[in-house]
Amino acid sequence: MTVVVSLDLIGLLAIRLAYDVALAKAPGIPWPLALWPADVTVESPPTDDVLARYALQVAAEQVYRRELLQKLATRSATPQTSTRKRLQMVFCIDVRSEVIRRNLESMNESIETFGFAGFFGMPLEYVPFGFATGTPQCPVLLQPSFQVHERLRGIHAAQNLGLNAQRRIELAEGMLRNLGLTSGFARVVALCGHASDVTNNPYRAALDCGACGGHSGEPNARVSTLDGCRSRYFISTRLGISVR
Ligand SMILES: [Zn+2]
Repeated sequence: MTVVVSLDLIGLLAIRLAYDVALAKAPGIPWPLALWPADVTVESPPTDDVLARYALQVAAEQVYRRELLQKLATRSATPQTSTRKRLQMVFCIDVRSEVIRRNLESMNESIETFGFAGFFGMPLEYVPFGFATGTPQCPVLLQPSFQVHERLRGIHAAQNLGLNAQRRIELAEGMLRNLGLTSGFARVVALCGHASDVTNNPYRAALDCGACGGHSGEPNARVSTLDGCRSRYFISTRLGISVR
């Protein structure tokens, strides 16, 4: 029997081990090295019993995957109504938002949800009230292209350095086109960012959402909102639709 070992798994274990070693060498951090075995030896090739149990494990996972795919196929075949949706909500593509989306759509067929990177296409640096500098509110692969300063009256009265009305409209249009939301708008379209918090965990960054860099999408959602009649006029002209 041939056993195929995933290189991804080996790579992941190597990264975890490197983290542990780095932490163990960090000054001031006690590490229970005594729990590690004194001598780690390479095991002999797996026995037939081990291989048989491995094959059963793979078979069990394949059955689970097949049943899950059948459920998803049945779900996607549900006919959609052509009437105007009452509510459309855009969530981050982070898997933790999927639970909310699934439950919302199962509650009422007039609710529709979308997935989009949780910075909503707005690569901004958010400077909270009372601060001179802020933090990037976008994935780590992007650089903020403008600043947004929070003011007492809210972010809409903010000083948006590097972001004029034209650029804001272009960014909003890009988001709508990438969403595929250029027609059939619901009466209410809500952008729902998310944040996360972790306490005392060396793998904190690994738990952050990659699509929004682990930052709350709140300021991004507020900047993305086409809250002015002028903005709606231009976006309607560009898209040839009426954003109501
Ligand atoms: Zn996210």
